[in-house]
Amino acid sequence: MTLPQRVGDKIARLVGAGPGELVCADSTSVNLFKVLSAALNITQADAPQRRVILSERSNFPTDLYIAEALARERGFMLELADADDLFARLDERVAVMMLTHVNYRSGRMHEMAALSQAAHDAGALAIWDLAHSAGAVPVDLHGGGADFVDPVRSRSADFAVGCGYKYLNGGPGAPAFVWVHPRHADRFWQPLAGWMGHAAPFEFSPGYRPAAGIARYLCGTPAVLAMAALECGVDTVLAAERFGGVAALRAKSLALTRLFADLVEARCGGHGLTLASPRHDGHRGSQVCLARDEGAYAIVQALIARGVVGDYRAGSASNDSAALPDILRFGFTPLYTRFVDAWDAVEHLRQVLESGAWRRDEFGQRHAVT
Ligand SMILES: *Cc1c(COP(=O)(O)O)cnc(C)c1O
Repeated sequence: MTLPQRVGDKIARLVGAGPGELVCADSTSVNLFKVLSAALNITQADAPQRRVILSERSNFPTDLYIAEALARERGFMLELADADDLFARLDERVAVMMLTHVNYRSGRMHEMAALSQAAHDAGALAIWDLAHSAGAVPVDLHGGGADFVDPVRSRSADFAVGCGYKYLNGGPGAPAFVWVHPRHADRFWQPLAGWMGHAAPFEFSPGYRPAAGIARYLCGTPAVLAMAALECGVDTVLAAERFGGVAALRAKSLALTRLFADLVEARCGGHGLTLASPRHDGHRGSQVCLARDEGAYAIVQALIARGVVGDYRAGSASNDSAALPDILRFGFTPLYTRFVDAWDAVEHLRQVLESGAWRRDEFGQRHAVT
């Protein structure tokens, strides 16, 4: 019964949260629905004239879909900005700023504390999706320790969600997690009022009484088997605490991604690849994305056939004013990806490009429904 809290407390250590502030539950999408609902409730009570949910145009689609649907349901507007315009777009119309810390496409990392502070200065709440952050980059949900005296102006986030099956190594379909800042813990409400979030689930009383604090984010019976597997993954990440923890993982991650990007430039020049992730260490998550005008899909397939498993992400149509290129994405899990793996991956990429092997028919076939 306490597995969601126990695994939650472990994940909390990786994202700068305290014990009792975070639970493991459901999927990232469902948790986002819960926290966005809660945030809209709070601002609706405090500042009913605010009707805008602000997010980033290239946020992960499920985040935008959830926000779009909820905005429609609740009479809010979802507005999308480019990453560089976010600070300027925080004004008196914004109720909630909802962002993903590390962009899934580019690997670009936002300044979480500064943006949270800017959202609070503008009178809005800050929701962060940590899907590509937890276990890979340092996260400080409390924004650098003690909150400012005035909580409205604090650099901490208000709500956060994240994913169990990426850098937390929970395995396919692992449950997600959800966090709320203690200042909201007994004040927020979420519409998925299931019995696991009840103050006393086994009283079986007909009326809903929310549990104290974060436990009210639980809904139905947890996926115990999946959560037990996730706990193993999280324990493995936590074992790195003996060697410096997330800071050490981050140092290795940056060294890996820098090595990979440098090697691609040195060894795969002249093949039309450009670096689509930030070169600056402070702005890069734990992935390297390469853009190419043509063949990105087939090149990724050819690499997968050689055991180098990256991702292809389609760009947007070139008649779109904010056109995005096709991308080859390489994620580096610092816990177990080795420097020799980065070297080998680039060597395979070089061979695939130089031999033209990626042009073979088999690699151009789309497998997934697109
Ligand atoms: C991976 C990812 C998700 C996944 O959501 P699910 O509900 O687990 O499918 C959500 N948001 C972001 C930003 C992601 O990267």
